[in-house]
Amino acid sequence: MSDYVSSVSAALRQRYADQPEYLQSVLTWLEMITPALQDSDVYERLDLLTRMVEPDRMLSFTVPWVDDKGFAHTCHGYRVQFNSAIGPYKGGLRFHPSVNPSVVKFLGFEQTYKNALTGLPIGGAAGGADFDPRGKSNREIMRFCQSFMTALYRHIGADTDIPAGDIGVGAREIGYLFGEYKRLTGRSESSALTGKGLTYGGSKIRQEAAGFGTVYFTARMLEHQGETMEGKRLAVSGFGNMSWGVCRKSAELGGKVVTLSGPDGYVYDPDGVTTQEKFDFMLQMRASGADKVEAYADRFGVEFYAGKKPWEVPVDIVIPCATQNELDVEDAVRIVANNVRYYVEGSNMPATSDALNLLRLSPRVLTAGSKASGTGGVVVSALEMVQNSLRYSWTRREVEERLKKIMGDIYDASAAAAEEYGLGYDLIAGNDIAAFKKISQAMIAQGL
Ligand code: GLU
Repeated sequence: MSDYVSSVSAALRQRYADQPEYLQSVLTWLEMITPALQDSDVYERLDLLTRMVEPDRMLSFTVPWVDDKGFAHTCHGYRVQFNSAIGPYKGGLRFHPSVNPSVVKFLGFEQTYKNALTGLPIGGAAGGADFDPRGKSNREIMRFCQSFMTALYRHIGADTDIPAGDIGVGAREIGYLFGEYKRLTGRSESSALTGKGLTYGGSKIRQEAAGFGTVYFTARMLEHQGETMEGKRLAVSGFGNMSWGVCRKSAELGGKVVTLSGPDGYVYDPDGVTTQEKFDFMLQMRASGADKVEAYADRFGVEFYAGKKPWEVPVDIVIPCATQNELDVEDAVRIVANNVRYYVEGSNMPATSDALNLLRLSPRVLTAGSKASGTGGVVVSALEMVQNSLRYSWTRREVEERLKKIMGDIYDASAAAAEEYGLGYDLIAGNDIAAFKKISQAMIAQGL
């Protein structure tokens, strides 16, 4: 079996040498699931690993659009339909200049494993474009979304592939994408997209879900240690949708997020981002399209550290909520030295491989990976699909209770798999193993 793992790993290194994010994501996963491969030779006989690390298909297309001055631009759009063993392809769309085939594939791969343990029938996908939404007018955003959907609509659908939001794609963009999908297909097919507005088939709590889910997961880790969120200080990166939800839910549970960050640096708010005024200001900063966090320091009279990352602040809990590889070895060393007790990933693959291993193997830090603790958003997306098929909407409380329960189920499955394979409290490996087992069973059952 170890020969099989080594040969898959060598093939990946060769084939994806020019796709660093994707390679990092699959190699880390391979390392995590290796203990579970000793169970049986079926994985090798069916060459399951190779089938799991290759997407079913990768779509790429051009997205031409016209700016307000009448100039045309051409962006590159992608959709990777990664794995549909458990259900239709499902995952977000990201609009950001860093989007390329490697980023989209790593997101689609991770999404497959995020979705597997939600208990809801969804496979994995991801997509997006290298469009930069910064400083664009509303009309430019609308035209871009329409052009993007013109290329994508024939590949998606409620039983095929269901896109949602991610960085740069929120309720506004989903609205424009959905409107264009309806115009092109002539069908009001609610479950073709999730993250819709509340007036046309969206789910309550979808906006809050990503951050709330991560805090629910963290609360289970705290409980395991006989602790609660009360009085805890949290360092968070970003100031987007995920950070906003983390600030709100942790404040509700008595914790205090003391940092937010942006591409320009980070702010340190010793009183915590705990008031409605501060939560609302985060939304305003996001809506302004400037992508800078310094405005928070000006508004609330706190310190701004230009060009720095929030991981230097001593806290109890670190929750990266911004983007991939935002935390390197130097940051991880600092986190350990600062006596941080919990490292819980919100955003996808926020740490480099070396940083992650350093944190995971440090006896003082308890760690959770984004494929488990970062699943709140897609959980409520799947609940949105359930409500759409029922032609019914649940109350806030009904959705939130389901979200909380599912986050607890993912925690339990991760902890149980770690225990079963003698990995102690390694929630990262436990989660990867539990999801791998579920997906592989579904793939084996459905034949080659
Ligand atoms: N990008 C989000 C995630 O990673 C959304 C996926 C979805 O809702 O389908 O969870």
